[in-house]
Parts: sequence; C-alpha cells; structure tokens
Amino acid sequence: MNFTFPIDALQQHQTPFYYYDMELLNATLNSINNEAGNYGFKVHYAVKANANDRILSTIKEAGFGADCVSGNEVKKALETGFDAQGVVFAGVGKADWEINLGLENDIACFNVESIPELEVINELAEKKGKIARVALRINPNVNANTHHYITTGLEENKFGINQWDLENVIKALATLKNVELEGLHFHIGSQITDLLSFKELCLRVNEIQKWFISQQILPKVINVGGGLGIDYEQPDEGSIPDFKSFFKIFDEFLELQPEQEVHFELGRSVVAQCGALLTRVLYVKNGVNTKFAIVDAGMSDLLRPALYQAYHKIENLVSAKETEKYDVVGPICESSDCFGKAIDLPQTGRGDLIAIRSTGAYGEIMANRYNLRELPLAYYSDEV
Ligand SMILES: *Cc1c(COP(=O)(O)O)cnc(C)c1O
Repeated sequence: MNFTFPIDALQQHQTPFYYYDMELLNATLNSINNEAGNYGFKVHYAVKANANDRILSTIKEAGFGADCVSGNEVKKALETGFDAQGVVFAGVGKADWEINLGLENDIACFNVESIPELEVINELAEKKGKIARVALRINPNVNANTHHYITTGLEENKFGINQWDLENVIKALATLKNVELEGLHFHIGSQITDLLSFKELCLRVNEIQKWFISQQILPKVINVGGGLGIDYEQPDEGSIPDFKSFFKIFDEFLELQPEQEVHFELGRSVVAQCGALLTRVLYVKNGVNTKFAIVDAGMSDLLRPALYQAYHKIENLVSAKETEKYDVVGPICESSDCFGKAIDLPQTGRGDLIAIRSTGAYGEIMANRYNLRELPLAYYSDEV
C-alpha cells in the first residue's frame, strides 16, 4: 500500500499544508491490530506524535488506547472519545492541575518517574478520596542507538526511576495509601531501527521483573513503550513499518507471568508515513556549489530537520527534467531553516509543487508561529 498524491487536487490549495493519506493510515492501523492481536498485546497511541482531530479520531475508531504526556493531551484524548480506561499519563514533570485532571477522570494509569512525584500523586488522590493506579517508569539503561536527543533509556537521561532507587520506591509504596501499583513502564527512545535494542529491553525487563517478584510484588501490566522507527530514506518501500517482526521480538523474549498484560505506546510508526508536507518553490537562487530552492514552508511548519538534523525525503511532484543538486531551504531568518542539502531533484523552478515525505509524526504538532507565520493547514485524501 503506497502513499498517493492526487496532484491536480493538491494544486488547488495554497501552500504550505500537510496532506494525509487516510487509506495508508487505515492500512497501518489494521496491520498493527492484526500483528499485536496475534499475541493479545494492547496498543496505546502516543498522542504527542500527531494530535490532529481527524488523525486522532481515526486512531480511536481503530480501538487504540491513548498515551498522553500532558494534561491537555489527556483532555484532548477524552474529548476525542478515548475511553478513560485506555488513557495513560506519562511525563517527567506533571503539574498538580494535570494530575488532578487525570484523577477526576479516573484514567487508567499514571506512569510515575520519581519518588517525589509518587508522593504528590498520593497526596492529591487522598484529597479526592481516590486511589490512583500507577506504573513505575523504570530506566532500564538500554542504549537505543538513535539520535542523542531522542534516546531516553540511559541512566544519564532525565527520564524514569533508576534501578538503584527501586528499593526506596517500594518502601514508599508500602506507606502511601492512595496509590496502587498497576505495572512497570519502560520507554527507551524513538526512531529505533535496530530491533536488537528491543530484545535487549526485553532481557532487562525480565531481570527487573524477577527482582519485583522476589519482593512479593507482581505487576499486572508490563508497558514496554514505543520507539519503533520508520524508513525515512524509502517512504514508499517502507510505507508500513514491520510490525510483525517488532511484536514477535516481545513475544519471543519477554518472560511473562500468568494473566500479565503487555502494553505498547507507539507514536511515530503509526502516523509518520501517512503524512507529507506540501510546499511550493518561491525562487531558485545560485549558490557557490549548489543551487538554493527556496520554498514557502519553513522550520515553523516542520521543525525536525532544524531540531535534530532529521532527514526527510524531498520530491518534486511536477518536474520530470534532468536532475540537479539543490539545497532546499525555507524563508525563515535562521541558517538551520534547511530541509536538505545537495538533494538530487529534477530541474526545479518557481511554482513547482514539492513534497517533504514521512512528516505525519512530529510534524504538524510541532508547528509554531516563529516569524509570525501562519500555522500550516491540513487536507485529507478522502476530502481533497
Ligand atoms: C514519545 C513517547 C512515546 C512514543 O514514541 P514513538 O517513538 O513516537 O513511538 C511512547 N511513550 C512515551 C513515554 C513517550 O514519551
């Protein structure tokens, strides 16, 4: 199943805008449901990857839970119709109002990242006469071999509870009467393409589980987070990530206790390939070694290249001339406002429609109004 561009229809719209292939999104959701369903795994969608209304409601319709990292994401998930029983709330710095919001709505679980946070959740739950279900986000010290800005599972990262602190955590849990341990939570990073990192995670989880069991604690849920990477180089060959191999690793290597549930929190791999950022060339300008194709989208519309030197495939949708090298840059007053250097494109001119691929995740949601630019609009394959 490939991403398709209805070029004539897209030409009618002012650029820049995000375009979503809803058939590809649905095919991706079906693939996840089939492959995870084989093992009875439960998948939550990481709302932070893309909280666009149509995308979010399509994912809700497919039966996913919601993994939220802010109070507003919790609110948005509930407004979209996600069942509170399928909403989990993670994040290293939850404010009191955000915790209260989760408590008032009886969400499934708070993923807790420190003892002080556990104490605050207990205190706020006590005030409401509630018992909060919590999972401990444990830092498994597994290297995800990904960009250092998006690796999260090492002891030096700000995320999670380190293993040397676990004894203190279970002592605290024994005294805090308004929190109840529901599970263990792990998330080692994002854009992970080496599945061996997930095998390593499973082995660490098994060891950590053994320790909990030795302390007479049996967690009901093992939440292994998200992080499955996608193929940014070849968005068409890899339009649906290899969910089969991904879930199989967990089936093969996680040692589960009877009745234990396995939960996942996938973001990027669910939505990245179904989105593209469409932009037009404003000017072509000669540089020293390459030409600059100056487009009307900028880092305010798509931040990833400027933020993490992320690669996105760039295509000229209307030219079939001989290829030349271009630096594709935006109009914003920052040198980092560049989508790609020395990119091979068919000879490109003013007005050409350009697609920046694989931008369904961490694209539209990170858009901002720097330089007082407008936020990008969005169009969908079933209503262009
Ligand atoms: C961001 C995040 C995810 C999703 O990560 P992807 O790489 O987009 O799959 C899952 N869980 C937590 C706690 C996160 O912060």
